[in-house]
Amino acid sequence: MLKIENYINGELVKPVSENYLDNFNPATGEVYSLIPDSDEKDVESAIEAARKAFPAWSKMSAEQRHDCLMRIVSLIERDMDSLAEAESVDNGKPKSLAKAVDIPRAVSNFKFYATAAMHTATEAHETVGQAINYTLRQPLGVVGCISPWNLPLYLFTWKIAPALAAGCCVVAKPSEITPMTAYLLSKLCIEAKLPKGVLNIVHGLGAKAGSAIVAHRDVKAISFTGGTKTGAGIASIAAPMFKKLSLELGGKNPNIIFADCNYEEMLKTTVLSSFSNQGQICLCGSRVFIERPLYEKFKADFVERVKQLKIADPLIKESIVGAVVSRPHLEKILSYIDLAQKENGKILCGGKQVKLEGRCQGGYFIEPTVIENLAHDCRTNQEEIFGPVVTITPFDTEEEVLKYANSVEYGLSATVWTENLSRAHRVAEILESGIIWVNSWLLRDLRTPFGGMKQSGVGREGGFEALRFFTEEKNVCIKINY
Ligand code: NAD
Repeated sequence: MLKIENYINGELVKPVSENYLDNFNPATGEVYSLIPDSDEKDVESAIEAARKAFPAWSKMSAEQRHDCLMRIVSLIERDMDSLAEAESVDNGKPKSLAKAVDIPRAVSNFKFYATAAMHTATEAHETVGQAINYTLRQPLGVVGCISPWNLPLYLFTWKIAPALAAGCCVVAKPSEITPMTAYLLSKLCIEAKLPKGVLNIVHGLGAKAGSAIVAHRDVKAISFTGGTKTGAGIASIAAPMFKKLSLELGGKNPNIIFADCNYEEMLKTTVLSSFSNQGQICLCGSRVFIERPLYEKFKADFVERVKQLKIADPLIKESIVGAVVSRPHLEKILSYIDLAQKENGKILCGGKQVKLEGRCQGGYFIEPTVIENLAHDCRTNQEEIFGPVVTITPFDTEEEVLKYANSVEYGLSATVWTENLSRAHRVAEILESGIIWVNSWLLRDLRTPFGGMKQSGVGREGGFEALRFFTEEKNVCIKINY
């Protein structure tokens, strides 16, 4: 059976303990590879390698770093199909989705930051008649990047690309639930002749390998994407050590549909924003609010379309709904469907685990589920489920729906459907979310600030923000003597 290896100091290595964890294929329920169960010894040698690589890497010109990163891009592009397949097998998502979204986005992340670093500039402030101040932005040193399982290579590279482009050396840990494409990336980094120690990838459990990265005093910053509770734990360790922290956390996003919307466009997109990647995208709109005059029509049309979504082996091209990522996650989602019913929710479609035939008979498949008749403040409508489950709720006024939308402790993204421009502006201003999509969803421009409010996180990724995060600003003040 394939044993994944850590990538430390430019080489693939076993974990020091030689202990491994099982890696499951969610579509079959079978173990198909083994993951290093790394501990602080592996993390220590990764940090040591990164520390040694830092002086040379940080002193390279942005253009030289660009050239290194672009060699990785060419190899990801070359391996697009096999990486998409690996992502699908590891995560359960349809291969077609991985090929259309996940792997191309990893390419874009590297391209975007490799080139962005060549376009940075720093400011100068003239204190007239007295001094010139200029700002230096110097790479922090060794930084930690920790990512989740839902968009494995996509989010992993979203962190390491800006860190590397900014001149930092990285110790990164992908989710232990989906380690495969990070492992394949480490092989591509070797092929691309990325200098040794610049990027180190340590596999293993969050509480062991992840927390060793967070707690290490030589790691200057942590860029983390994952659950809110995990983020709070990381902050409690990193904050007293005065590390820079970027936390991208959970969500419970509203999708607000006004009766004057472009109906077809809204309906098509709402199916996607509800169930793409089995609802396991932090930006999915899991609470759908519909203006009352449209409610019954929407309900009928939406349920009809959702019932048509094909649940199938993620490797076949007709598959639209794949497997959810793990057995514990499947059980968590089913427990929320149970809870919704106890809270008086009425299941309009879905609600059950699906048993496929053949190769996927042991897989973790759940029907896309639509629930109505729930209060906006019940647990089902307040807590993150992170699966193929949405609730639909009617509303009468703008004021009422804004109250519902903002009633959760999260504030990641929101979608608003209306043809009324004034209303779009008004609602966008009041919604407590870091990203507001009007008449669209998941339309991303990598230059824009990405991140959440409230318990959805601290800090913003994307654009020059991410490059700045990985640098320390220094003001140099030079007195002018006339
Ligand atoms: P998680 O918090 O369980 O794990 C995320 C990562 O943190 C994994 O690599 C894990 O091993 C590691 N980790 C766990 N405990 C740790 C610890 N004590 N110290 C250091 N590292 C630790 O999250 P998950 O289940 O992998 O991902 C799902 C969550 O991620 C959802 O809440 C989802 O909303 C969120 N998410 C947010 C965004 C965003 O951009 N805001 C994007 C994707 C996913």
